[in-house]
Amino acid sequence: MRLSELKSGESGVILKVRGHGGFRRRIMEMGFVRGKRVEVILNAPLQDPIEYNIVGYAISLRRSEADMVEIISEEEAQQLMSQENFGSTESDCLEEAYSRKSKHISVALVGNPNSGKTSIFNAISGSHEHVGNYSGVTVDAKRGYCTYRGYKFEITDLPGTYALSAYTPEELYVRHHLEQNTPDVVLNAIVASNLERNLYLTTELIDMNPRMVVALNMYDELEHRGAQLDHDNLGRMMGVPMVPVVARTGRGIENLLDTIIAVYENEDDRVRHIHINQGHIIEEALGALNEELNRYRNRLPNVYPPRYLAMKLLERDRDIEEILGKYPEYTDWATLRDREVKRVEELLDTDIETAFAERKYGFISGALKETFEPGEHEQPKVGAAIDAIVTHKFWGFPVFFLIMWLMFYCTFSLGAYPQEWIEHIVEWLSRVVSGLMPEGTLKDLIVDGVIGGVGSVIVFLPNIMILYLFISFMEDSGYLARAAFIMDKVMHHLGLHGKSFIPLVMGFGCNVPAIMASRTIESRSSRLITVMITPFMSCSARLPIYIVFAGAFFPKSAGLVLFGLYVAGVLMAVLTAKLMRRFMFKVDETPFVMELPPYRVPTVKTTLIHMWDKCAQYLRKMGGLILVASIIIWFLSYYPKSVDSDTSQATHYENSYLGTIGKACEPIFEPLGFNWKSSVALLSGVAAKEIVVSTLGVLYSEGEEDSGRDGEVTLRYRLAASNDFDTASAMAFLIFILIYFPCIATVMAIASELGWKWAVGSIVYSTTIAWIVAYAVYNLINLLL
Ligand code: GDP
Ligand code: MG
Repeated sequence: MRLSELKSGESGVILKVRGHGGFRRRIMEMGFVRGKRVEVILNAPLQDPIEYNIVGYAISLRRSEADMVEIISEEEAQQLMSQENFGSTESDCLEEAYSRKSKHISVALVGNPNSGKTSIFNAISGSHEHVGNYSGVTVDAKRGYCTYRGYKFEITDLPGTYALSAYTPEELYVRHHLEQNTPDVVLNAIVASNLERNLYLTTELIDMNPRMVVALNMYDELEHRGAQLDHDNLGRMMGVPMVPVVARTGRGIENLLDTIIAVYENEDDRVRHIHINQGHIIEEALGALNEELNRYRNRLPNVYPPRYLAMKLLERDRDIEEILGKYPEYTDWATLRDREVKRVEELLDTDIETAFAERKYGFISGALKETFEPGEHEQPKVGAAIDAIVTHKFWGFPVFFLIMWLMFYCTFSLGAYPQEWIEHIVEWLSRVVSGLMPEGTLKDLIVDGVIGGVGSVIVFLPNIMILYLFISFMEDSGYLARAAFIMDKVMHHLGLHGKSFIPLVMGFGCNVPAIMASRTIESRSSRLITVMITPFMSCSARLPIYIVFAGAFFPKSAGLVLFGLYVAGVLMAVLTAKLMRRFMFKVDETPFVMELPPYRVPTVKTTLIHMWDKCAQYLRKMGGLILVASIIIWFLSYYPKSVDSDTSQATHYENSYLGTIGKACEPIFEPLGFNWKSSVALLSGVAAKEIVVSTLGVLYSEGEEDSGRDGEVTLRYRLAASNDFDTASAMAFLIFILIYFPCIATVMAIASELGWKWAVGSIVYSTTIAWIVAYAVYNLINLLL
């Protein structure tokens, strides 16, 4: 009976906890473990929660939760034992009844039509149900029994289905069976010689998080074709034990039953609940819904995990809509759902169900790529031709480096043209405003503070657009996943996995989404290391500084310097990863799947939407953080006003608040060759790295006039003319910028992913290293020149 049916004062022993894996764990952690005795303290009708006593502790459970706990009561035990003439004391009786009852395992057979479910059913139960080579039309379940190693199996042969949506009667039937009967173990029968298609249903089942075993049926056919499958590894990657069987001859059936027992007793170390990564666009939608649903976790149906409910809501699954429709909050959920579906479908340019299916197939092909070797005469699949090149052992790398080179080349070279146009517009605007406004503080604020500050950053919008164009294209086309695949071996040398590679490449755009993308890495230590090294990937915010400085101080070899900086960042990341692996984490090998989503040619529309998304983000940063910072910097540099009107601009700045702050920090930065202006710029860069440029823009806004030299960039020109930097200090400055303090947004991202301890660690580590390396570079160059 159910725990909720037990009345006040009665007691019983827990037989099993039903429901999805997460729910079971939660209930078990509260102490409701199999074999434990529970006594009801108070179970009044209409009262929720119910109070229980477990080994001396008083714990309350909601009625809906107690409904999921199956127990054997004393009354039941006595009945059971008297039927079998067992005469003894009460407590012995309960224990004996428990030890018998707890060895009942209910198994539900789920699989595609013709996957051999009935054959397996017959092989296990010894029945002679009709086996036919056609899809069944009857929507019906057959039940059979067998005893094996002291366990009593009750197995149910369900109708064949390809998926678990709520479309066909078969699908609905199977789902309702899983929901209402909550079998102890789901046995998923799949055709070993047609894995790709059959594993789809497996991924649908994984989402529901039941206890599960996969029977790789017709293994004889797979062997016959000369194909090879590392089924143990495949099972580990998917978190579901897999057993090869040949149902027709009975081969492997004992092994299958042993595995079912092990899974039932929680003794199989391959069992793990995995989340199939749906790609960041859908994951964001899922995250939003999941968070909303999780707030009502205690009241939601306990058979399905919240993530599953969120997925089904997004798919507009009628069955789940009906279940959730009973909740008063449903209208809120539906509104959120509608908004997210609209966003996802617009960004992906496909309906959400197709998107889910594609990601699942991507997961499957990634898993099979590592574990399955097809027989000789098998037809290659679509997309395999491209894969043959881009994931080739040897050719994969040149292709990858070519694409990376193209990305950076376009970012810098093509970006330079529109960059110049915007510069001219900013300059023109500054002149016009200057001419229109009367002399005074307000004019200085607008021209030097706002236009000077924001203007010096906004000119880099084209470069950033091009960079994002490439990154979005690589991601959306499915190429980035392949790149991660070929980098897997390289990443293993760093103690990481290929999966870490994706966030690192994304880090070239912006570290914040990159850090969030590392969520899909399942091994905690790998995720941690990936997050911690991501800030060393030169994000697009550092780009303006590089371009200004490389142009001002290394005009002849600007390209080389830029390239060197990116490489230096990557080297820092590599070094840090190695150190962390060596000294902080022993290698842990959680096997996981690197998804290979199908190739797609991103449409112009989706690409433009993506790009606009990023640009809007960049522009918002301009209008917000950078604008405010520019104005603050301007204020600090404008006041206190010089009393003497003859004071030169330079002396005025030196005496300003900003000058005072910069001077106070000078001792720290002097060994690196930086003066107070650069110190101030570095301090301001803590908020966002672009602000370094806008600060310099304000500080150098009234430097020498750029006497109309064609194409000469104002800030670049003024910096070069200022004599504040020489080769050594300019280089040290660039290196310092590359390594030091990740911007505030990145620190927040690290804190939210890993906690504040790691965020602070990242700040201290990066800033210390930045100082040391910049110091070394400064002195080394001085020594050489
Ligand atoms: P169901 O539709 O999932 O119940 O599948 P059935 O049990 O009716 O089997 C479908 C077909 O596969 C039948 O023709 C079986 O003889 C055949 N079959 C079942 N198991 C095996 C096996 O292990 N090896 C081979 N080669 N054929 C099998
Ligand atoms: Mg059948």
